[in-house]
Amino acid sequence: MKIENKPGNIPGLETTVPWVWPRAAYVHIPFCAHKCGYCDFASLAGSDHLADRYLDALEREMEALGQPQEVDTIFIGGGTPTRLDPGQLRRLLQAVRHWFPLTVGGEWTVEANPGTLDEAKADVLVEGGVNRVSLGAQSFQPDLLKALERNHSPEEVPRALELIRPRFPYWSFDLIFGVPGSTPSLWHDDLEIALALGPSHLSCYGLVYEKGTALWKQERAGLVQPVDEESERTMYEHTIDRLTAEGLAMYEISNFARAGHESRHNLVYWANDAYFGVGLGAARYLRGVRSSNTRDLPFYLKKIAETGDATGPTETLDPAARARETAVLMLRRTKIGLDRNDFKLRTGFAFDEIAGEALPRHREGGLLEDNGTRVRFTRAGLFLADTVLSDLV
Ligand code: SF4
Repeated sequence: MKIENKPGNIPGLETTVPWVWPRAAYVHIPFCAHKCGYCDFASLAGSDHLADRYLDALEREMEALGQPQEVDTIFIGGGTPTRLDPGQLRRLLQAVRHWFPLTVGGEWTVEANPGTLDEAKADVLVEGGVNRVSLGAQSFQPDLLKALERNHSPEEVPRALELIRPRFPYWSFDLIFGVPGSTPSLWHDDLEIALALGPSHLSCYGLVYEKGTALWKQERAGLVQPVDEESERTMYEHTIDRLTAEGLAMYEISNFARAGHESRHNLVYWANDAYFGVGLGAARYLRGVRSSNTRDLPFYLKKIAETGDATGPTETLDPAARARETAVLMLRRTKIGLDRNDFKLRTGFAFDEIAGEALPRHREGGLLEDNGTRVRFTRAGLFLADTVLSDLV
């Protein structure tokens, strides 16, 4: 990542605002015990022997920042960051803390998978300054974990939580609905098991058959039967009702939290604010330029060793395209929605201009709620969110 200007040194740009100058950093660790069937993240199994070289590369990439950059949130994702051994984890956290010093009261999340977290690693995370863990549970049904090709058992989730609960003030887990073989009743069971574990934050995603993944190939070959649309809708509807009734408010299309437990880092993405990103395949958004690193690990290691930079695809959005993208992201925030004044301030465009006739149409059709200041999805709108968003922009 090349940073040519420091905050306060960018001609023509207001640099104290988070949509121009990043206050968030993402760091990617690609190693996994095993490649799950649905996964299209920059992750790979069988490459643990490259972990030390990878950490060298990450340090080199962060050095290219030129000077440490204070941030409000850090997210170390993967892959499986907790696949690193305690010594490697300690080294990673030290380097990240040096280059991305966290502001007082900041949020520092690390993703973990059940079965990869032990007491020694959990202690290293706490000592390193991590205060939030996001645990990939996905399901509590052995058959559904098998369909996803996850290599952990349901029992490993409560075991991991025994390590997480006493150490971290914030934690969350991810669940997936619409897995082949699932039914509304099995999904209800998953939610009840999850709620019994007392989370303050839950992410519930509908399964996506990402092109090129093992699951996508199985589906195309007729080897797996996707859950029908009606059942998937029932599952999503039940998720909203059940979690809301438990005090976990829906604050994004797939995310639920008690007040004060929302993911501050992900809120940066949904505000379309700027962020740093380092590591294999990591995306970043700096001064209106969105780019991501190569997803090829040997090439990443080579490029970083040679030049300190492994940037791949880069996209500079024109102001109107950026405004449209901001609208889509802001509307994903189901609780606060899109504030017209905030949108104008950030993009220079009036939301009504961007949305055109689709705004009154969907407002009158009961899919959007509009109080004159804020626009957000109604409950009916949530089930047609993709269509409404594409109509609006
Ligand atoms: S553990 Fe996560 S990142 Fe790793 S292969 Fe599975 S889904 Fe992908």
